[in-house]
Amino acid sequence: MPSNTRQPILDVQGVTVSFNGFRALNDLTFSMSPGELRFVIGPNGAGKTTLLDVITGKTRPDSGRAIFDGQVNILHTPEHVLVRRGIGRKFQTPTVFSSLTVYENLEAAIGFNERVDSLFRHVTPQQEEKIHTTLQLIGLEGRAQTRAGILAHGEKQWLEIGMLLVQEPKLLLLDEPVAGMARAERNHTGELLQRIAERCSILVVEHDMEFVRNFANLVTVMHMGSVLTQGPVAAVQSDPTVIEVYIGREREARH
Ligand code: ADP
Ligand code: MG
Repeated sequence: MPSNTRQPILDVQGVTVSFNGFRALNDLTFSMSPGELRFVIGPNGAGKTTLLDVITGKTRPDSGRAIFDGQVNILHTPEHVLVRRGIGRKFQTPTVFSSLTVYENLEAAIGFNERVDSLFRHVTPQQEEKIHTTLQLIGLEGRAQTRAGILAHGEKQWLEIGMLLVQEPKLLLLDEPVAGMARAERNHTGELLQRIAERCSILVVEHDMEFVRNFANLVTVMHMGSVLTQGPVAAVQSDPTVIEVYIGREREARH
């Protein structure tokens, strides 16, 4: 099907969020097609994290609307219900169970999305299959029996992405996934995101411009709570307004 006939996986229209009169999001309109790997960039305070908070039901906006997967009105749906409907979010700090093995972490994560406590329940053959596929996808098949607490920083991040993937989200939200990673780990993460995009839509908030250049296709630039511009990474990077508000400010920060 041509992409223009597909309904968006996420459709945010005219959303405004105020904190004591300050507009963190200002009449923001933002939309994503299914299967997209979208990068959102912008200077500190642009409203990127607030956008993720709205999409996950954590923050209620003053006005606007947001539809997920053609039917769920995000703005009136509780956070935990949105998780069950297929929105997975990864925060910056990895939250894995340190004393459990990599395999056990994935096993536990399968249960997050179900009502019953499956931590100590036996996994079904289908679930076991899902865990193995996920281990391969995140590149931790050789670490399955390793305690998560002793994994390297990058490996913990991949495990956490795996813990979201076993819940089979339709939309994955990642806030600065390569922060604190070495170059090799960043490249591995970029390749991982491209592979994951074959099975679900991904929205990545990112600060690392080199990472964005290497792995982004479509980039949305936010500034003062709205979308400044949007397009292929090369076009966005040479856009004078983007250089002014984003890259220019980054240069200032370095001096
Ligand atoms: P970004 O992730 O792009 O750096 P944020 O979405 O975190 O930006 O923040 C956007 C603006 O909203 C910032 O000026 C921030 O200080 C403000 N803000 C975010 N969350 C809150 C909050 N809970 N209370 C008050 N101000 C907030
Ligand atoms: Mg942020």
